[in-house]
Amino acid sequence: MTAPAAGISLHSKLPDVATTIFSVMSALANECGALNMSQGFPDYDGPDVLREALGRHVMAGGNQYAPMAGVLVLREQIAAKLQRYYGIEANPDTEITVVPGATEAIYCAITACIQPGDEAIVFDPCYDSYEPAITLSGGITRHIAMGEADFGIDWDEVKSTINERTRLIIINSPHNPSGAILRDSDLRRLEVLATQHNLYVVSDEVYEHLVFDGEQHCSVLQYPGLRERSFAAFSFGKTFHVTGWKTGYCVAPPVLTVELRKVHQFVAFVAVTPVQLALADFMMAEPNFPASLAEFYQAKRDLFCKRLVNSRFGVRPSPGTFFQLLDYSQISDEMDTELAVRYTRERGIASIPISLFYQVPPAGRHLRFCFAKREEVLLKGTEILCKI
Ligand code: PMP
Ligand code: GLN
Repeated sequence: MTAPAAGISLHSKLPDVATTIFSVMSALANECGALNMSQGFPDYDGPDVLREALGRHVMAGGNQYAPMAGVLVLREQIAAKLQRYYGIEANPDTEITVVPGATEAIYCAITACIQPGDEAIVFDPCYDSYEPAITLSGGITRHIAMGEADFGIDWDEVKSTINERTRLIIINSPHNPSGAILRDSDLRRLEVLATQHNLYVVSDEVYEHLVFDGEQHCSVLQYPGLRERSFAAFSFGKTFHVTGWKTGYCVAPPVLTVELRKVHQFVAFVAVTPVQLALADFMMAEPNFPASLAEFYQAKRDLFCKRLVNSRFGVRPSPGTFFQLLDYSQISDEMDTELAVRYTRERGIASIPISLFYQVPPAGRHLRFCFAKREEVLLKGTEILCKI
């Protein structure tokens, strides 16, 4: 083998992209021994029966490549889940693709849609994986900031941003990092605009079951005008507390699924076989598990927030996800990127600075905390925050 020539360099296709802040903050938390409320993952395991099923399938020989679209029994369980929770018909053969994580679904969907010069609209604060995928396809990302008062979308602004080059709109509800949700009226506006302008939609719904206070998740799959033009991405990691299993799925109509799979088969080809088999067993045995999540996480959110009532942080409404934004404008005017690092080092608590998810840094001052943590961690975390 020839060693690379000294001084070799690569002209970056993503010159403005650094290691994700989630990896950076988790590494810093570990280095400092800080409470890690930064990266979004639970500090508890998925259900025993699910993990036992994985061990069983590994020992029983489910260890070779799965079909490219995913193990059929799992796709059938996904179809049953879509019917049960949303009253949606989806064909396991032609409309459901199992992938190694929602991130891959989103990447493949964007790659399938975007031609060089096409524009894609995203909403800031915007999950960090969308724009690099658009850029790598030669697309142009148009950022629209969500309203800082409520993290809502101004659909009139969306309307005026759409032009003849606009190809795609990417939405994310429940929304990371704000916790905001899109409601029926939002999806109806999107349906009209997407239909009128013949746009594709990528809908990141990984937190679909984490919607609180009696509200319901609205999926693009429930709106006929959106169903026919959308790729909806979901993640088992969030729903079954197994983010490290990196398995999700994409639901899209047959013509879009054909193109999605053309990309998927050369990005990852397949998702991990025994994980898929274990998930299928669990979904068949415990179809109501996802319905229990809202109460489970609402209790965590409420505990975290109630304990901060007398702190100097402003607690923002969080109707969905397992994230809570805290407004620190009464405490400091430091940049959130600096403050998050300082709190990790000096106070022993790690969070995520959200200004990195904006094209134009926001006026507000917010840090994001993940409350998918055991009670003792939430108690310790709020104790630290109340002393600040
Ligand atoms: N979208 C959003 C908004 C997320 O927060 C995450 C993960 N935390 C993903 C996509 C990716 O999910 P997965 O781990 O299944 O790739
Ligand atoms: N999406 C998770 C978060 O928001 C982290 C996933 C990742 O690290 N890419 O924290």
